[in-house]
Amino acid sequence: MDHSLLAVFAHPDDEAFGTGGTLSQYAVDGTKVYLVCATRGEVGEISDPSYATPETLGQVREGELRCAAETMGVAELIFLDYRDSGMEGTPENQDPRAFINAQAEEVVARLVGIMRRLRPQVVATFEPYGGYGHPDHIAIHRHTVAAFHAAADPTCYPEQGPAWQAERLFYTAIPRSFFLEMRRQLEELGEDTSEFERFDDPTTGWPDEKVNVRMDISSTVEAKWQALNCHRTQFGPGNLFRRLPEEKVKRMMSQEWFALAWPEAEPGLQMPTLFAGLC
Ligand SMILES: [Zn+2]
Repeated sequence: MDHSLLAVFAHPDDEAFGTGGTLSQYAVDGTKVYLVCATRGEVGEISDPSYATPETLGQVREGELRCAAETMGVAELIFLDYRDSGMEGTPENQDPRAFINAQAEEVVARLVGIMRRLRPQVVATFEPYGGYGHPDHIAIHRHTVAAFHAAADPTCYPEQGPAWQAERLFYTAIPRSFFLEMRRQLEELGEDTSEFERFDDPTTGWPDEKVNVRMDISSTVEAKWQALNCHRTQFGPGNLFRRLPEEKVKRMMSQEWFALAWPEAEPGLQMPTLFAGLC
């Protein structure tokens, strides 16, 4: 069977850092790679005022994601057309178009329709905390998990087409050790590492022992780097990762991490790739 992979995220650039190399690698191997993005990242940062204004940011970031998707070889990019909800506690949370205010029923139905049409073997989305707790990351995680199971149940959303049971659901899960290593390298260079202070708490970050797949993506790290650079409003000169020498960053970025969410993973399970053992 031809393999296909569906990645579901909240904002343009969510796909690049955690899965850019994996998506590129599968696309190179002939796997159909699909990407869903819930919003256009309308209230994200603007790294350089010449790139966008708050009014044009959504449109600009749509273009950036199209650039990244092309770089990674994504076969189809789908926007759900919700609005970026902003960080927790910001006024954008109240916007009626904000993704966090969308009815679960509506979002899940749309994702079910997409899964049943594309019929991916593997689906990937954020882990439950969405990396760092962004409300849209948590929301897309929740809706994708619900849709993954609903898509397989013919009694759910029958108007969205015949049921489809994908074989695996993965969470993208950048482990705690990555951030500790990043902090160590920045400290070595005498850089400010105050944004890593939260990792002093040993329960912060995804536990390394709950990573089931460590993808070696060194063969596509250049494509990942290019995809990140497509997102120039977010990955500007002041970005944390730009503070390390490029070669060092690329080496650190040459691995991507996933946790198997369904079927349930035995403790300590290690799989070489997302599709390992699937025909
Ligand atoms: Zn995001």
